[in-house]
Amino acid sequence: MFLKYIELLDQWNSKCNLIKIRDHLELVEYHFLDSLQILRTCSWEGRLRVVDIGTGAGFPGVPLKICLPNLEMYLVEAQRRRCVFLQQLIEELNLTGCYLLCNRAEILAHNLEYRAAFDRVVVRAVSSLPVVLELGLPFLKEGGFLVAMRGVEVQDEINKSSRALSLLGGEVNKIVEYQVGERRPHHLLIVRKVFATPPKYPRRPGIPQKRPL
Ligand code: SAM
Repeated sequence: MFLKYIELLDQWNSKCNLIKIRDHLELVEYHFLDSLQILRTCSWEGRLRVVDIGTGAGFPGVPLKICLPNLEMYLVEAQRRRCVFLQQLIEELNLTGCYLLCNRAEILAHNLEYRAAFDRVVVRAVSSLPVVLELGLPFLKEGGFLVAMRGVEVQDEINKSSRALSLLGGEVNKIVEYQVGERRPHHLLIVRKVFATPPKYPRRPGIPQKRPL
């Protein structure tokens, strides 16, 4: 399945720049293996309902779904072109129980079908931490976990997110350091949802980025 994924990415990258990769080793290390680091965070057993916000070309949601087929995986992506790729990927890999939501997270999080409906939220390379929390926490059930894949500096980001955490119902659970390939260590930040997010969040599309909490 990963080989098919590479083939499809190659096809698309030759037409339009879907992701920046120099070679297949980089793709395997910095996208596939990096995405799978999420498995080090909390329990991933059973039929968990997971949403990947801003999945782009499918990271980290698709590698997770390939390795744990029992997951019910929702891929959220706002860009039309990326959604066309993702739809083709889901079909070609025959990913049953993998659903594409082609819309902005700010809109989907107010839909009753998705609000407070997920056991896990995963987010990689989407905006600053306060924005990630505003987009992600509304999707989580109380007691569920949001896993934010962050870079080299994480403590400073957490310090700047204390207001967002307390307004949105999140609490830092743990930080896991990891290293893939030659890169400097990166961090997985695990946030537990401790109370329901107030209905006014997330704010209108674009506002979380423009005026972070
Ligand atoms: N998560 C992927 C990864 O790690 O390779 C993609 C990262 S890419 C830098 C960010 C993606 O998030 C883009 O495809 C963008 O369209 C999507 N995105 C950003 N804000 C979004 C929002 N509010 N709702 C849905 N998708 C969003």
